[in-house]
Amino acid sequence: ALPAPFGPAWRRYTPFLAEILAERRRLRRALRQAIPMQELALVYQPKVDLETARLVGAEALLRWHSAELGPMRPDIFIPLAEETGDIHAIGDWVLDAALRQLAQWQAEARLEDDFALAINVSSRQLMQAGFVAALLQRLEEHGVPAWRIKVEVTESGLIQDIRDAQERLAALRASGVGVSIDDFGTGYSSLSYLKSLPVSELKIDRSFVKDIAHNEEDRKLVETIIVIAHLFGCSVVAEGIEHEAERQILRGFGCEHGQGYLFARPLPPAEFAGWLTAPPANQVRSPGSTES
Ligand code: C2E
Ligand code: MG
Ligand code: MG
Ligand code: MG
Repeated sequence: ALPAPFGPAWRRYTPFLAEILAERRRLRRALRQAIPMQELALVYQPKVDLETARLVGAEALLRWHSAELGPMRPDIFIPLAEETGDIHAIGDWVLDAALRQLAQWQAEARLEDDFALAINVSSRQLMQAGFVAALLQRLEEHGVPAWRIKVEVTESGLIQDIRDAQERLAALRASGVGVSIDDFGTGYSSLSYLKSLPVSELKIDRSFVKDIAHNEEDRKLVETIIVIAHLFGCSVVAEGIEHEAERQILRGFGCEHGQGYLFARPLPPAEFAGWLTAPPANQVRSPGSTES
């Protein structure tokens, strides 16, 4: 139920609000149907070594094409799913689909020894009772070793309950699953949580990367993040690299890995498979193919 100021009387005077609310109801209904209607799919963005352009992994990214509403952005529907609780079913679906794909690539013997697939996990999902045990069981069912995956979590979700988060991430790491902090630096969190969280990788958010070639302040920020990450024993991935100049600056700062349109957009599995077999020299492609 809506709080008092949003009751029926007030709504009468603000028709646009009623429209927004109706739109949100539609969206919620459609989202609830997304799994049974088979509207979800994963795409895979290559993650490369910034020095050699060699493929070192990929990030699984969720896509929802609603029959009713058309293509929907994860930035919109993931937060909504977190609000409604649908994130648990959706998160399960993502894990299962990602591990199935990984198992298939494994069976086709297409994977390099150090290839790891990153899977985004909502903090709501991570904090759900039994998450770690369920994940380990899923890995076993699919015959995928723990070190083949990395769990990506955003820092903002972790600091709400740092003790519990610490325990769960430690359990993941102990089992061999990689742990990556996504969107690093965008939240309000203090750096001190780094000393208590068992993390193997930091991901620098695109918002810090996109102006790095022109903005001295952003350059300083990114250099600092990389230094801190290394001091804490983490490797660094920069996201949203679109230009060669950005790659060079990041590489100069010692950033190991990167993702971005400069290398490849998120790709449907059939297209990503080409990356798994192509020699490194052919892996740097111009953007353009696939997703818009
Ligand atoms: P994220 O995990 O930080 O993912 C990076 C986003 O940057 C992705 O957006 C990716 O498509 C986009 N990106 C990558 N390279 C470039 C580039 O060079 N330029 C630009 N402009 N963008 C680039 P996407 O796929 O729309 O996902 C948005 C967010 O939705 C993700 O941010 C993640 O937080 C969330 N998300 C996506 N899939 C899942 C999922 O399966 N589970 C959960 N819980 N969240 C997900
Ligand atoms: Mg991510
Ligand atoms: Mg990210
Ligand atoms: Mg981001």
